[in-house]
This record gives sequence, C-alpha cells and structure tokens, in this order.
Amino acid sequence: MDLRLDAGLRTRVLRVRALGRERMRPLGLEADRLGRPIPADHPFFAELVRLGLGRTRWSGEDAAEPGGFGARAVVVLAEEMAYWDRGVAVAFPGPGLGEAPLLSLGTAEQRERFLGPFRTPDRPRWGALAMTEPGAGSDVAGIRTAAHREAGGWVLSGAKSFAANASRADWIVVFATVDPGLGRDGHRAFVVERGAPGLGDFHVEHKMGLKAYESTSFTLRDCCVPDANLLGGESAYDRRAGFKGAMRSFNATRPAIAAMAVGMGRAALDESHAFARANGLLGRPRIRDRLANVRRRLRAARLLCWRAAQLADERRPNALEASMAKAVAPAAAFDAAMLGMEILGEVGGRGDSLVEKLFRDAKAMDIVEGTGQIQRIVMARQLVDLPRDREG
Ligand SMILES: Cc1cc2nc3c(=O)[nH]c(=O)nc-3n(C[C@H](O)[C@H](O)[C@H](O)COP(=O)(O)OP(=O)(O)OC[C@H]3O[C@@H](n4cnc5c(N)ncnc54)[C@H](O)[C@@H]3O)c2cc1C
Repeated sequence: MDLRLDAGLRTRVLRVRALGRERMRPLGLEADRLGRPIPADHPFFAELVRLGLGRTRWSGEDAAEPGGFGARAVVVLAEEMAYWDRGVAVAFPGPGLGEAPLLSLGTAEQRERFLGPFRTPDRPRWGALAMTEPGAGSDVAGIRTAAHREAGGWVLSGAKSFAANASRADWIVVFATVDPGLGRDGHRAFVVERGAPGLGDFHVEHKMGLKAYESTSFTLRDCCVPDANLLGGESAYDRRAGFKGAMRSFNATRPAIAAMAVGMGRAALDESHAFARANGLLGRPRIRDRLANVRRRLRAARLLCWRAAQLADERRPNALEASMAKAVAPAAAFDAAMLGMEILGEVGGRGDSLVEKLFRDAKAMDIVEGTGQIQRIVMARQLVDLPRDREG
C-alpha cells in the first residue's frame, strides 16, 4: 500500500487545517456551549459553498471516474476535519450519508436529479440518510417503515430517528420494507424530497456530544413518493437490492467515520499532551507510556482506515477491512479522550475544556454506522465463520 499523499491531497489537507483552526474548532465549541446545532442559515455554510466545499464527490455520468476524488482522499480529509471538530464536519452542506446509496443503488437519471444540484451548488444544500428507527438500530433487518404501491407511486408510513441533517435536507434516502415478512429481502430505498406530503414531525434529538449538527427524528404519515424515486428503479424492486445496497453504502462510509474517530482521538491526545507538558507531568513514566500507547493505537487505526479506503478505490470488497477500521478507531479515540480526562483531573471535571467536549463527542463514534459490537460480529462471520443466528 502506497502511504504517500500526493501534492494535490496535501494542499487540500492544509486548506482544511486552516479552515479547521480558524472556523471549525471555534464554531464547534460555541455550538457545544449553546447546546444546539449550527442553524442552516448560518453564514459559515454559505462561505463554505463559495469556497467550493459542500459538494458531491460524483462528477457526472460522462466523467472518466465515477467519483471526483477517491475513498482514500475522503478518509484523509475526514480525519483532518474531525481533528478540528467532527460535529461541524457533519454539519457541512453536501449530500452526506445519502450520497453512498445514490451512487451504489441509483440509476443514472436519479444520480443526475439528486446529486446533480450538489456539483456546483447555488446555496448550501444537504442530503440525508434515514435507516434507524425507534425500534430498529443494530438490527437493520428489523425496520418497520412500510412502503406500499399505489397508482403512480409509493406510500410510506413509519418513524425514523437520529438522521443527520434531515430537517434541512433537500431529500432523505429512506429505507423501508415492502413486506416485513421478507426480512432484509423486503428492503427498498426511496428518495423522499423536502415538502413531500406526509413527511413531517421533525424533532432535533438531544445529544451528549456532537452538538454542532442536527440528528433528527421524523415521521412518514402516508407519505407519497413517486415511482421515479424508488432507488434503482423497477429493476431494483425485482432484484431485492435494498438491503445489499445499504450494506454497500456502509462499507463505503465506515472507513471515513473511523478516520473521523482517529482525528478526534489525535485532538484529545494533543490537548492532554500539551497540558501534561505545561504542568510538569511528562516526567512521570506511567503518563508518558500511556500517551505513547494510545498514539500507537491511533496510528494503527489510521492504517486500517487507509487500507479499507484503498480497497474501495480499487473496487475490491472491503467489508472486513471497513468493519476492522470502524471497530478499532472509535475505541482508540475514546481511550484517548478518557486518558485526557484523567490527565486533566479537576480541570477536565469542570466541564469547560476541549478534552471534556471530545470525551462526550468521541463516545458516539462507537455507535454511529454500526456499533463496535456489530462490527466484531461482522468480522467474526468472515474470520472464524461465525454462523448467522438470524437471516431475516
Ligand atoms: C450521533 C449519532 C448519529 C447518528 N446518525 C444516524 C444517521 O444519520 N442515520 C441513521 O439512520 N442512523 C443514525 N444513527 C443511529 C445509529 O446508527 C444507531 O444508534 C446504531 O445503529 C445503534 O442502534 P441503537 O441505538 O438502536 O442500539 P441497539 O441496536 O439497541 O444496541 C444497543 C446495544 O446492544 C448492542 N447489540 C445490539 N445487537 C447486538 C448483537 N446482536 N450482539 C451483541 N451486541 C448487540 C449494541 O452494540 C449496543 O451496544 C446515529 C446515532 C448517533 C448516536
């Protein structure tokens, strides 16, 4: 694996670093203190659009490469953004987690219609993905949001929770079931557009950390979606492509989520290392050893993220590697933040230090996009043939 970053990527990292230091870190701290997400009309988002950010990776059907830049670049930039503030990074305009299912499941017409406006957006635009439900998180096969056919379209009924940026999104990729009796074979993905009749009851969830972006629950009450918004079109309906498409999406996004955890862990370590130095604690071998140990684990986690991304760029299967990265990085990040809290002692306990914020932010990284437990099950299925106890 080539570990070098090319000149273009290095330049991008430096740009993100400057933006992170000057804007993302202060905005993330402010959102944390206020306890609410950055509003959609905040001038920062319009500024990002002017800087050419908040765009899709997709460069159009005619492009030689399907993505504007590859998974490896995404992972490197995700780590750098999350180093400064992961909550602000997720609040960035863009198609968000909804991009991966559009790329893996969508037709050319659907990519053009839903991702096209994100190529050179005229204003901050968001997309979202809603899989999780009040009664179905890890057990994705257990989603109950129902989709049934009516003349000219589909009617969706159910409730979704914790969907990033959902209330400000132009559209939300919603996973639903056409027949709960079919388990995962019944899953289909629909693009529900803002203002669709029956889409509503948006409620921003209260979170312990990552407050800069909204995680939102909403309901679909006999929500009408045109036929053209079934991802993959009619052929996807017959191929029962929904569940596999969701899994492919997670394989695409998990390495970047894991890389974000690496960035957050690095931030916590840098902060607590500086505190230890300023307070004469680095003379204690036990503290030095523990700092070095967590730093080693974060570096190893970064390599797992890069490996999973490289396989994605080579269009090779990466489910195992994506799960490895997602299982390892959040745990290392959380340990880094926990160590920081120990080193800061009562300063951390006062609740107004960056390390304390990172401690709350980092916890969620083990939960989003499949918990650590679930990643270990996915890995065990491949590494030691752990049998599936449920096929849905
Ligand atoms: C900050 C944040 C952002 C999120 N963003 C999104 C989003 O944008 N879109 C979206 O759809 N969802 C999102 N989610 C939801 C997230 O994907 C779910 O929270 C996650 O899948 C876990 O589901 P759950 O919370 O229902 O926990 P549960 O599935 O109820 O799990 C509870 C505990 O049991 C463990 N567990 C469950 N099953 C097993 C098993 N078979 N074996 C061993 N242990 C098991 C889990 O590891 C966990 O520790 C977000 C969540 C958070 C916290």
